[in-house]
Order: sequence, then structure tokens, then C-alpha cells
Amino acid sequence: MRRYRKVKILATLGPASSDEEMIAKLHEAGADLFRINMSHSSHEMMRTLIERIRSVEKKSGRPIGILADLQGPKLRVGKFADTKVTLVPGQTFTLDNNEAPGDENRVFLPHPEILESVKVGDRLLIDDGKLALRAEKVDGTSITCTVVAGTGISDRKGVSLPDTLLAVGVLTDKDRADLDAVLETDDVDWVALSFVQRPEDLAEVRKIARGRVGIMSKIEKPQALERIDEIIDLSDAVMVARGDLGVEMPIEAVPGIQKQLTRACRRAGKPVVVATQMLESMISAPVPTRAEVSDVSIAVFEGADAIMLSAESASGQYPVEAVSMMASIARKVEDDPLYPSIIYAQRATPEATGADAISLAARQIAETLRLAVIVTYTSSGTTGLRASRERPNVPILALSPSVKTARRLSIGWGMHCVVTHDATDLDDMVNNACRIVASEGFGKPGDRIIISAGVPLGTPGATNMLRIAYIGADGQSGV
Ligand code: PGA
Ligand code: MN
Repeated sequence: MRRYRKVKILATLGPASSDEEMIAKLHEAGADLFRINMSHSSHEMMRTLIERIRSVEKKSGRPIGILADLQGPKLRVGKFADTKVTLVPGQTFTLDNNEAPGDENRVFLPHPEILESVKVGDRLLIDDGKLALRAEKVDGTSITCTVVAGTGISDRKGVSLPDTLLAVGVLTDKDRADLDAVLETDDVDWVALSFVQRPEDLAEVRKIARGRVGIMSKIEKPQALERIDEIIDLSDAVMVARGDLGVEMPIEAVPGIQKQLTRACRRAGKPVVVATQMLESMISAPVPTRAEVSDVSIAVFEGADAIMLSAESASGQYPVEAVSMMASIARKVEDDPLYPSIIYAQRATPEATGADAISLAARQIAETLRLAVIVTYTSSGTTGLRASRERPNVPILALSPSVKTARRLSIGWGMHCVVTHDATDLDDMVNNACRIVASEGFGKPGDRIIISAGVPLGTPGATNMLRIAYIGADGQSGV
């Protein structure tokens, strides 16, 4: 199966999409990677979802990336007796240390440190700001609030405290346990860190992960933006986490920050995901709003590596439709006559390395000669990402001996990854590339392709060779 689309789709799994049949449908509709939200998944559920994704992967024959998203120091209320309650502005509502199910007067807040540090007058924003409360009375074990705006609250909704100073690290005890469980599976490709504030947060996680998973920083705090270059440098990928970002920062600042982050990540050659509320209305409707279609398009025009679905695919009524809609929007944008000039306006200049010089040359040759595809042999994935950084107008076929690399690269713009043996010699490299190009549907006999690799073969990071080849009449060999 090949996709006729460069931008990737990352779909969150949840109650609406946890059985294998549904995961297969989402994959078929266009989801290239799946996100398991550790805020809502037990370790057992995580392992079950991984098993189901791998089963879908096996049947489809395409490497699928799995992202485990750690909750981070995200504060959430407890549960309600009836899953949700209706509130009216002006009424009193209390957050307290009582574990009993909540009602329209109160709910459990399982964070004693917050009950202690909120001051009278502080704002408490619930569910990405949909409900706004103001603290009127605090006693260390409860916060009595007035409902300022909004009409309801439900189980485990997030709480943001833009006015309260909290000294919390990036990994909570829960995150450490979740990260251990993730690493133990040895079957997860990416871990996302929520509420990254400082480069030091990354250093800590890198030490634990030891290269076993790619590390994605979720940018959702103003503090992270102050040292964003260092944070991108220490991350393997970045998420523009617009949900919390739009609560922690003025909401009107988010589009500009999204542009700043997609640009900075493209320059660094680090995959960047644009996330949250992309097709929000599709949680309960089969078609999105015009504004949402436009929003998805903007991310595609910016050259983001991936666009994400949250509740739309995890708990909405139309998960498959949401993925299909995203895929259709992406294809339409990528076919737009203005797309090349818009996306290329942000193309990053190559760094002075062999890999970048080769990637630039491969793109120019492919575009000048109208070649069918750029083939890149990549063992660690680095060469593949540098080729993707060029944002060429032809597809990139990334060949890797490592299934882990292929899965991890499923997030990267324009890349189609195939697992294959390490080439034994140059002839084998060319013939193997031609055979896979033909069998994966990227070219036919008589088409020309360009291949980049490092010689001697199998040397990581030594990309130094370009070769133009014709696919032979048998579709098996190159000339
Ligand atoms: P979340 O992260 O869905 O885990 O909160 C994304 C965001 O904040 O936008
Ligand atoms: Mn978030």
C-alpha cells in the first residue's frame, strides 16, 4: 500500500478506536501512526493496543509508528457520580481532597500540592479553558470557586493554572512508571513529553531512554518558548500542542507560535506535529467546519511532518471519517498549484555536511530530470530525515535494514519506509532499490530513479553517493 500524500496523519486511540478492526480501518483510511495517551491508558491497555497495532501492521505490510504520550505534570479533576455535571455561571463550585465522586457542587482534585498553592483570585481553567473558575476561598484542603464562564465539567478534565506558580519537574512519578512500562515493551517508537519547560527536562529523559525511543517534546508552556532552540536540539521531534498552549498563552498567539515552531523544526530537520482541535467538530458531526478545514490546510501548507487527531479519533462518533477527511484535505492542498511555492519559501539551507549536500543534490536532480522517486538507504534514519528536510516534490523511498527505524520514520514528511537487507554491493543496491520501487508502486519499468547511500555500505552517517538508475524491463533490476 502506498499513500499519495506527503504529510503524515497521527491518530489518537481511545474508547472509540481500541479494537483491532477499528485500528485497521483508521490505518486504511490514512493513519500512519497511532498515539496512545498515557493519561487515559493503563499499562495493560497500552500493551493490548500495541499488540493490536502490530497485528494490523503485519496484515498491511506497512511499518506503523507508535507514540506513547506521557501525561506530564498535567492536573486533572477526579470523576463524577454521573460522568458529568451542568454548571451555571455565578454558582459556587469546590475542588477538594475528598475522593468521593463529584456532583454539581464539588469534585475531587487529586493534587494536594495544588490545593495548597492556589491563592484567592487565581484562575482555574478546566478542559482547555472551556470552564473558567475563580478561587474565592482556600483552606489548604479545598478551593471554593465561582464559575466565571462555561456550563459543564466531566470526568478527569484537565486543570490549568495560569496565575499559580508551580515548581514541578517534567516527569511525575506516574510518568516514570509509564516510561518504564513503555520501554519494557521494546515496541514503542516515540515517547512524547508533556509540558516541557527547560532543555534539562530532555536531558533527564534521554538518560533514561538511552536511544530506545525517539523523544518528542510537546510545546505547551511559555517557558519552553524562551529556550526553544536548545529544546529542539535535544529533541528528536516536536509537537505543537495547541490545546494547552492556548490556555497557557493568549489563544491568539498560538497561530504565530505554530508558524515559528514548524519553521524552526524544518530548519533543524526534526519532525514536527501540529496537534489538537484540528477537526474538533467531527467528534459529533460527520463533516467539519470550514474553519477546521482551513486550519488543517494551513498546517499542510506550512510543511508540518504530521497532523494529529485527538478526541476526533479517540472518543468521537466519526473516527474513520475524521481520518479520511484529514487525508482528503492533505491531498487537495498538496495538489494545489500554489503549494510548491508556499512550502518551498520555508526550505532550509543545507548544513555543511555530506548528507545535506547529497540530499540537496538528489532533490535537484530528481526535480530537473522528473525522476519517479528518491531512494535513500538509511540505517539509523538520519539520512532519511535529511532527505525529507529538503521537502522534494517527488516521494522519498527510505530503505532500512531496521524495522525500528522504518517505524520511527513513519512520522517524517514524504517518506515511505520499507525494511530490506543491507545491500551487499553496488549492483545489489541498485537492483534492490529498483525492485522495491516497482513492487511498492513508485515506478515502473523504464522510469528513472535516484539512489543515495553511504559507501562503504552500512556505514552509518556516511552518505556520500548518488546514482541515477533505470528500472529494467523486468521491473527487477536497474541499469
Ligand atoms: P494533550 O496534548 O492532548 O495530551 O493535552 C496536546 C495539547 O495540549 O494540545
Ligand atoms: Mn497538552
